[in-house]
Amino acid sequence: MSSISSALVLFSGGQDSTVCLAWALSRFDRVETVGFDYGQRHASELAARLRILRGLRANFAGKAARLGEDHLLPLDVLKVIGGSALTDASKIEMGAHGLPTSFVPGRNVMFLTAAAALGYRRGISDLVGGMCETDFSGYPDCRSETVQATARALSLGLARDVRVHTPLMAMDKAATWYLAEELGGAALVKLIVEETVTCYEGDRSQRHDWGYGCGACLACDLRSAGYLKYTGATANQQGIAARPEIKP
Ligand code: ZN
Repeated sequence: MSSISSALVLFSGGQDSTVCLAWALSRFDRVETVGFDYGQRHASELAARLRILRGLRANFAGKAARLGEDHLLPLDVLKVIGGSALTDASKIEMGAHGLPTSFVPGRNVMFLTAAAALGYRRGISDLVGGMCETDFSGYPDCRSETVQATARALSLGLARDVRVHTPLMAMDKAATWYLAEELGGAALVKLIVEETVTCYEGDRSQRHDWGYGCGACLACDLRSAGYLKYTGATANQQGIAARPEIKP
């Protein structure tokens, strides 16, 4: 048996999954990444993945040496099923059942299933995902209970332990920026600002302090508010003292 620990990070090219990737690089000997092409309305997320991986290799030579293969899996079935503003050309707003129209039913369960199957082939039992239950959107498949129940079902179905780590589960967006700084200093914060895509429109034409985005969608609102809280706190010493305790 190998004593080398390894993890597979669900890596979308967004802020959260980039922080999760840095988190995994600080804890596992070898880290592979997987992204999913599910007919996202914009392809800029997928392009960002490659820029971020290049940036990590260029700026974090020590940790990035742990970076292994990157995988991209098609999950077109989510696009075929449709009905989400992330895969269809419809407006992102609050929809029926109190969920934003950006909700893609079953997405995270499907992502975890595909990642666990890939991990099975790669000999990796530890998955890392950026799911978070503290933000406003309330996606039911981002809840810890859903994620851990899925891990349990996958462990049974694969007859092998599948562990899903969700370091951001209880964090707000400001704490995610703090964690990035803790893991990779100003260089990682800069990489996230410059290269990650959070915006629902995939906008890369407008640059703000917190990075690129339309500045008007729900995802941009959340990202900018978190960044403002983070920089407001780091700009004065009291803020630093008031920094929330981070328990990855
Ligand atoms: Zn936006």
